[in-house]
Amino acid sequence: MVHTQWSEERPEVAGLASPSPMLWVGGGFPPRFRWVSPSLVQSLGHAPEAWKTRGFVHRLVHPEDLDRVQEAWRTVARTGEHRTLEFRAASAEGRFVRLAVELNAIEPSPDGAGELIGTVRVLSPALQTEHLQRTVGSEEDQVRNPMSCLCLELTGPTSTQADLRDTLDGLPGPTWMVGGDLSILWCSPAKQAHGAETLLCVAARASDPQAWASAHRRALTGETVGFDFATCGRTYRCQIGPVRGADGAIVAALGVATDVSDLDEVAQELTRTQRQHEDLIDTIDGIVWESDARFRFMFVSKQAERLLGYPLQQWTQEPDFWLKHLHPEDRDWAPTFCMKATRECRPHEFDYRMIAADGSIVWLRDIVTVVSEGGRPSKLRGIMVDITEQHRAQEHLEHTVSLLRATLDSTADGVMVVDQGRRITAFNGRFQELWDVPEELLALRDAEKVGEHVRSQLKYPEQALTRRPELLADSGKESIDTLELRDGRILERYSRPQRLGDTIVGRVWSYRDVTAERRAQAERERLLREAQEAIRVRDDFLSIASHELKTPLTPLKLHLQMLKKRMASGQPIPAQYAEKALAQVVRLSGLINDLLDTSRIQAGRLELKHEPVSLRELTQEVMADLRPVSPHHTLEYEEPGEALVIQGDRGRLAQVLVNLLENALKYSPTGGSIRVSVERDEAQVIVSVSDAGIGIPPDQKSLLFERFFRARNAPISGFGGLGLGLYICRDIVERHGGRIWVESEVGHGSTFRFTLPVVDGVADAHAPPA
Ligand code: ADP
Repeated sequence: MVHTQWSEERPEVAGLASPSPMLWVGGGFPPRFRWVSPSLVQSLGHAPEAWKTRGFVHRLVHPEDLDRVQEAWRTVARTGEHRTLEFRAASAEGRFVRLAVELNAIEPSPDGAGELIGTVRVLSPALQTEHLQRTVGSEEDQVRNPMSCLCLELTGPTSTQADLRDTLDGLPGPTWMVGGDLSILWCSPAKQAHGAETLLCVAARASDPQAWASAHRRALTGETVGFDFATCGRTYRCQIGPVRGADGAIVAALGVATDVSDLDEVAQELTRTQRQHEDLIDTIDGIVWESDARFRFMFVSKQAERLLGYPLQQWTQEPDFWLKHLHPEDRDWAPTFCMKATRECRPHEFDYRMIAADGSIVWLRDIVTVVSEGGRPSKLRGIMVDITEQHRAQEHLEHTVSLLRATLDSTADGVMVVDQGRRITAFNGRFQELWDVPEELLALRDAEKVGEHVRSQLKYPEQALTRRPELLADSGKESIDTLELRDGRILERYSRPQRLGDTIVGRVWSYRDVTAERRAQAERERLLREAQEAIRVRDDFLSIASHELKTPLTPLKLHLQMLKKRMASGQPIPAQYAEKALAQVVRLSGLINDLLDTSRIQAGRLELKHEPVSLRELTQEVMADLRPVSPHHTLEYEEPGEALVIQGDRGRLAQVLVNLLENALKYSPTGGSIRVSVERDEAQVIVSVSDAGIGIPPDQKSLLFERFFRARNAPISGFGGLGLGLYICRDIVERHGGRIWVESEVGHGSTFRFTLPVVDGVADAHAPPA
């Protein structure tokens, strides 16, 4: 097709506009090019090395022009004359471009092999191509009216016979030229589709000789005339126009016939197809576009207006529309990126923002293909898809993920998320830290392996798995339990399902170190217990102490009243009254002493003397003092064979013995024998006091030596006492370097024993002389 052929010549024609001169330097015979300017290389498209090959002139110059060119070359090279010649030169694509070359000798040589320079100009082709292309730009137009375009061109001033012939050869239908006498001067070569043109001319003339003659006549007067005729079942449309010579005078009429039998149908089909394409493009959810290699839009689909709000003309008419409406932050990189890909003729895809007419930001994904010609990008085609919503969703997602990540990392709990396939999908640093999980183990993302690592640190490894059956049975279940670690830490473990909508996709495990909390709680509980105990002890003490202190006061008061009465009446006072009163005072002072000793022990102020004391003698004396106290009891003493001297406080040690013996008496209410033994056991003395009394419940034995403690089988109503005696005994014994304990059976009696270290070779300071 005519328009296709010419439009493919565009790259070469574009070279006309090139400001750099096109020239070559050559020499020798046969002629050879030594140097060719880049602009000329670019114009014709041959590789620069190709120009320099031997015989390239033969490839370059049209065979019909070759002799002329060689002749001119040789003449200039030999004579040094200046010559201008025109010829057709083949482009790399095999098309011919008309060139005007001015040849000037640089160094003439008589044999014609001298150097010369050729200054090249690409001539406007005989038919003005730009004009022609514009006119025949629409295929539809051309089909409808091929002649109209041609005739316009034929009236151009520079056509020559040869140019005209070239052009006519390119036309699709049969052509002819008629002289002033209506004789046929020239016919185009035979076309297979139409047979010999002479026949067609004959047929045309024969179908309507009047119309034929009148049309050609009118053309010879400058008009362009058309008429149709039918032959052999086909319809032809003839267009006849004037042909002017170089001086502008009409020299002939030119006719072109086109078979239009199918044209209407073709035109309709074309229109329909074109509409279909347009509809298709317009319904595509994106802007379909085409631009030149400098981003100047040549076409944009209607979506552009809907999407960005700018009228379509603005896209195509403003040369830098795209650049101008890019978001400022994308204005640098986006064109650079696109430009680079375009230069490399590489299809590309990129996301960027444009500012819409209403000022809003629209995110676009541009998918671009580069159309290249001769290895150079000629235009871009692409589709811009609105991804604003997608981008917002992505941003929202990224924001949410970063929020979750920050939350996860800042929580004090160790968190691990495991999917249904037992793969770890998330965890935080605290989890890794709590369980000291090695990086490489976590990198495996294997929940089973990490679970093994966790279990290996538990005091009771099976504890970790106790919840497993119930969680496996019900994946929606939540759980909480406590894990004890070998290193003493206590962790609380929470577990809850991870849901996606209604589906459970995994499980979140979180671990909280509650060691300090639990310890503090235990400590609080202990303190509370102690406080409660202290309150109880205090209350018990107050009630016991007041009872105990009051008990001796009543008989004391009675005895004193009796004494007073007798004294007033002048009656004699029996000694037993005074003794009984005195015994109550002794009892009272014993209680008060116990209280005082207790507070001294508490304050660390109970002082002890250090002197040699024979336990044999001391025990003897204490027993002798106590024997008269209870006639119901028998006091037996297993006396040791040696003095068994220890270093200590005689009075305080006597106090221990008295206390143990008084208790033995007190807690054997039915009487019986009390046995005392003092014996040596290697470096220590063991003193034992046994009774056959009420005994002590086993669970109370360890508490007997605590302050204010009284065994439950010794109620205050039956047995007096403050619960301080044994407490004081323990302190005294222990401060002498000994130990005190009890062996007892409820209902069968008790044996209290204490030890003291023996000091050999020392005599009792108070012992009577032997
Ligand atoms: P108390 O003044 O109450 O006797 P102690 O400290 O001497 O105080 O004794 C503490 C408690 O030990 C007594 O209340 C009693 O319950 C128990 N106890 C002490 N000695 C005996 C014993 N020989 N037989 C049975 N219980 C005893």
